[in-house]
Amino acid sequence: MIEVSKKCIGCNKCVPVCPFAAISMIDKKAVMNEACTLCGVCVQICPVQAITITREEASARDLSGHRGVWVYVELTETGEKTQVKKIKQVALELLGAGRRLADELGEDLCAVLLADKNHNYEKELGAYGADKVYMVEHDELFEYNTDIFSTVIVSLVTRHKPSIMLYGATIQGRDLAPRVASTLYVGLTADCTALAIKNGLLLQSRPAFGGNIMADILAPNSRPQMSTVRPNVMKMAEPVHGRSALVVRESAKLDPSLRRVKVLERMIAHDAGAVKIETAKVIVSGGRGMKTRERFRQLEELSKLLGGVVGASRAAVDLGFKDKTHQVGQSGTTVSPKLYLSFGISGAVQHIVGMKASDVIVAVNKDPNAPIFNVAKYGIVGDAHEIVPKLIEALKKGK
Ligand SMILES: Cc1cc2nc3c(=O)[nH]c(=O)nc-3n(C[C@H](O)[C@H](O)[C@H](O)COP(=O)(O)OP(=O)(O)OC[C@H]3O[C@@H](n4cnc5c(N)ncnc54)[C@H](O)[C@@H]3O)c2cc1C
Repeated sequence: MIEVSKKCIGCNKCVPVCPFAAISMIDKKAVMNEACTLCGVCVQICPVQAITITREEASARDLSGHRGVWVYVELTETGEKTQVKKIKQVALELLGAGRRLADELGEDLCAVLLADKNHNYEKELGAYGADKVYMVEHDELFEYNTDIFSTVIVSLVTRHKPSIMLYGATIQGRDLAPRVASTLYVGLTADCTALAIKNGLLLQSRPAFGGNIMADILAPNSRPQMSTVRPNVMKMAEPVHGRSALVVRESAKLDPSLRRVKVLERMIAHDAGAVKIETAKVIVSGGRGMKTRERFRQLEELSKLLGGVVGASRAAVDLGFKDKTHQVGQSGTTVSPKLYLSFGISGAVQHIVGMKASDVIVAVNKDPNAPIFNVAKYGIVGDAHEIVPKLIEALKKGK
């Protein structure tokens, strides 16, 4: 329920920002009509806190009208209006996971895409499994902005009532999903590593207590059931080219005053041409067992010869062998390369969750009981300081 108290000064600020044109000013007081979706934008903008929303108790909600599995589609941020943005791989991975959930529920799989311009995105989204694409095109959607994007998503969810919504656990997804969850007053499970359907509900599994146990989470009293999933956790489905999704165009009335943060300048923190660890096909990773920064540097040479990227355990990062952007694991990046070589890494559960989806894992460790060998396809019990130089030599000779 939405209420306007006597504090309302009739300033009119709430009227233009309402995405549903649900507010009019009558006798210098804001009055909401039936188009109001309780999205909360007016509450945020009101300078005198005159507007309040009282949410229903979760258990009292009628959830029967909620249907459909939605995937939020993130686009690459180019910072250039003229450059065509690409669909991020994590969205395609989520479509694969979403397809399985939607099939089990007998519901549609829908992609949700917000952009200043559509570049036939529905073709790719359809090929990766989407039945429908909810498409909002607007100049204000040129780049990601928390206020603008969350307002649009909340309005779409309120209008179409999906039962499940999935986001990539990227910088953008981690910003957007909690904002949407708090506005809609629903739960959100972050960094899920597995998703399934149990008795019609979304079973969301994620590591808990420092990764030592897996927690299974259900949200029986709220909709949509929302989760974030890190890139590289779900395997991408094989695309079916030629299979296109139905486009549902949605309008959005977006007032620029909603935008409380403006991007003034973008700075590239990394070499733009460098391969990122999350997309690398070959990763040569080192841990505390590499002992010194100098020895760790040999892994750079080895990875160059293999056309790969260097990864590191948290211990190696803490020792200053490599910077945090290269950390693999629960509090680093989740990776799934074709080849993962590990040197002097014990295989703590927090490291394993970040690399176990790799196609082939090769581990070198002095300790035959190191847990890394439980996930490795090829294990070498030996001294990394002897094996790394020999590999480098052999690869150089081979060239
Ligand atoms: C909440 C939380 C989040 C975490 N997140 C992460 C994360 O994202 N990523 C991560 O990696 N860790 C993470 N950790 C830390 C994790 O628990 C481990 O402490 C860490 O992974 C250990 O790194 P390591 O394997 O390099 O070091 P160690 O566990 O000390 O293992 C070193 C290994 O090197 C071997 N070794 C020694 N000398 C040699 C040699 N000459 N040749 C070959 N092998 C040798 C040893 O036998 C040993 O197995 C997290 C922990 C917590 C609590």
